[in-house]
Amino acid sequence: MNAADKDAFIGDGIIQIDVREASRCLYDDGSMEGSNLQRSGACPICRTNAGPVALREGEYSGRQCVCGVIYIDPLPAHPVDAPIDHHHRVYYSAPARARVGWVKAFTQRGRLLEIGCGDGEFTAAAIRAGFTVEAVEPSDERATRVERTLGITVERALIEDSRLPEGRYDTSFHVDLLSHFPDPVAALRAIAAKVAPSGTICFEVGLFSNLSPFWQRLVGRPNMPTHMWFFDALAIERLLDAAGLKMIAMRRYPVGLSTALSTVLGSRRVAAAPDSHAPLAQGWAAAPYYRLHMFLRYGIGRWLPMGGPQTAFVAARHKTDSA
Ligand SMILES: [Zn+2]
Repeated sequence: MNAADKDAFIGDGIIQIDVREASRCLYDDGSMEGSNLQRSGACPICRTNAGPVALREGEYSGRQCVCGVIYIDPLPAHPVDAPIDHHHRVYYSAPARARVGWVKAFTQRGRLLEIGCGDGEFTAAAIRAGFTVEAVEPSDERATRVERTLGITVERALIEDSRLPEGRYDTSFHVDLLSHFPDPVAALRAIAAKVAPSGTICFEVGLFSNLSPFWQRLVGRPNMPTHMWFFDALAIERLLDAAGLKMIAMRRYPVGLSTALSTVLGSRRVAAAPDSHAPLAQGWAAAPYYRLHMFLRYGIGRWLPMGGPQTAFVAARHKTDSA
């Protein structure tokens, strides 16, 4: 499942999870589903809920926790319709090799579990790099397409519900899902359980917490409740720790330039058609636009000074008693 969102915010893709399905995790006592009651949000790491408001969007606030997380408050009372992916395939295909390269820096070969394979852009690059890839993907349509074109096995499931054997994989990868999981600690635990004790857990995540007012304005709306959690680098380390994992590496790319580009285009589009979820660039312009976007992020972005919004490649291992 490729992640993402209304382009005006993270500029990173729209999550493909079936949020209706995911939301039932929020209401595990069964009593809330379909009701109008709302529950207060809480930090998914610290489980506290008294932080000051750092973001506002519609009926939602983003509260700042001392650990670095901004968490949604209240939790969405109704399941949100499954978002549509507004991004061109280049959005996923252009960085695919760099993402595989990141995984390969820690695990050179073996079985790779991809969480949310979407249309298989990363999948294909990982297969070319020599990995045996298996995937979980809640969209049956996408799963079928990837199985047919790439000849791999795709389990139709959310990772939290996956029945794939524990400890089967040498490594795992996902992109931009942590802001969307109903419980990101539980999701990371579920992923970690599938990875062998000596394996690595790799992913990419946006770092959009603790932005200055300047960057907050440039980034635009946070797109809650599709995004429920926002992290900074320290919060990711703490999140991993809470899931029984230890961060072994993080490579950050400032994404201010690409975010500014999509925010400017996005705000023009929103002004023209407020309800439009159409891609920022369409037709012949789409591929060049997204190539530029990706070049600003991962090409030029790599050499820009840190600060403002970032995207981060992360690698982690299981914590051991001696860790
Ligand atoms: Zn916290």
